[in-house]
Amino acid sequence: MRLFKIRGGVHPEDRKTLSANRPIEDLGLPPLLHIPLQQHIGALATPAVRRGQKVAKGQLLANSQGMISAPVHAPTSGRIVGIGSYPAHHASGLNVRTVSLQADGEDRWSEDIQGTDDPFSLSPEEIAARVAAAGIVGMGGATFPSAVKLNLRKRYRLHTLVINGAECEPYLTCDDRLMREQPEAVLDGARIMARALGVSEILIGIEDNKPEAQAVMEQAAKVIGSVRVAHLPTRYPMGSEKHLVQTVTGRETPARGLTADIGVVVHNPSTALAVHEALRYGRPLVSRVMTVSGGAIRKPGNLRVPLGTPIQHVIDHCGGFTTEPARLVSGGPMMGQPLPSTRIPTVKGANGLLALTEAETSCRETMPCIRCASCVQACPCGLLPVEMVAHARAGDLEGVVKLGLMDCIGCGSCSYVCPSHIPLVQYFNYAKGEMAARGRAKQKQTETRRLIEQRTARMEAIKKAKREAMARRKKEAAEKKSEQTTAEQRAERIVEEAAA
Ligand code: SF4
Ligand code: SF4
Repeated sequence: MRLFKIRGGVHPEDRKTLSANRPIEDLGLPPLLHIPLQQHIGALATPAVRRGQKVAKGQLLANSQGMISAPVHAPTSGRIVGIGSYPAHHASGLNVRTVSLQADGEDRWSEDIQGTDDPFSLSPEEIAARVAAAGIVGMGGATFPSAVKLNLRKRYRLHTLVINGAECEPYLTCDDRLMREQPEAVLDGARIMARALGVSEILIGIEDNKPEAQAVMEQAAKVIGSVRVAHLPTRYPMGSEKHLVQTVTGRETPARGLTADIGVVVHNPSTALAVHEALRYGRPLVSRVMTVSGGAIRKPGNLRVPLGTPIQHVIDHCGGFTTEPARLVSGGPMMGQPLPSTRIPTVKGANGLLALTEAETSCRETMPCIRCASCVQACPCGLLPVEMVAHARAGDLEGVVKLGLMDCIGCGSCSYVCPSHIPLVQYFNYAKGEMAARGRAKQKQTETRRLIEQRTARMEAIKKAKREAMARRKKEAAEKKSEQTTAEQRAERIVEEAAA
């Protein structure tokens, strides 16, 4: 299959052998699970259970809210012991609304759960509705509700579904293992999604550092004519949606546009597996496979983890730490986010849990820029990180935006190659956060102004209505008085005439 070259990229040491050759293991149930109601991009789900209630595995715990949201289901059977705030799976460590569930150890599925023998007989709308009801979100880390993407056929002329099996982040091997161990299920999920999208072509992109996955997926795809496996060159960030699509189709996604603009939708192998489970067996998304790795983990591997499991339970299962980790990361080391504690629960988008040693974190002293342009060569988006960081350091955020901040995918390739160890991507992430905060503040100002204008208009209308009512009452009183006077005058006249 013909592939197209993309610019930039780097070759970080991949360290995948730490976990790649161990089969996926089921993690035992923790006694207590904390299931956040925000495990997706979009509105927080609202609780559908009460404290003390008994629930079965797969039972709805919280309903989605609005167009961009996802419901949340019970990862096992047990009793609800709390609905409140709990630390989020996020670098901030801030609390998020969470349902706490005490497992009863039976792991009993809800009796309401029902799949279908022939998902291909369902309409695209019905498939998307079932995917939405199962709470499936992008499991490569993006956590965008998958049903929203499946419904893109309504607004775009789509022709291809790309399954993103690049898994280009170092250490991560959960998609690799899934494709090697359950290729038919991943393919089935991909074909169901292709039906929902109304596309005839499915491409599965897998990097060359996963030859076993390439081979088994190719073998499984042989029986299905419309599926092809693309052998991608191993280069970070090949798993970036836009770069993957460019590599396999030769077409560039417009700046700040979607891959759907060029007719392509991208999903992850774990998402495809979740769609297969939801459509064939009616099972909502209640667990996921994640890589647990890093130099500080005693037994790295890939585990199927019930969502809401505290990460300490996962670490204990892997034999604990060999040494105190310098950094705990959710996701990969390039784009993942640091985790503040081991109390926090696992979530739908967490594809990796890394406990990195001092040597693995490469926290080296920052030196002055030597204008070597290595960052410019490494940037897959054709940006000028060296210029952008100069503006960011001077606090000139508009200047960074003008240089293309919003096109930066935060891949960290620039930071990785910088010989002066300048944390370029941190500057860009900070600048994006600042811009987003300014945007929110501006939106709030506009909203406040709109509310004030609405209130002023409402008060004016009330005053006007009062004035009009008063004038009406005055007029009515005057008319009544005049009628009374006329009647009295008439009566007087009649009396006078009678007397005469
Ligand atoms: S983090 Fe942004 S600026 Fe740096 S290489 Fe990636 S896309 Fe380019
Ligand atoms: S790689 Fe680092 S030192 Fe080289 S130009 Fe970029 S910021 Fe400067």
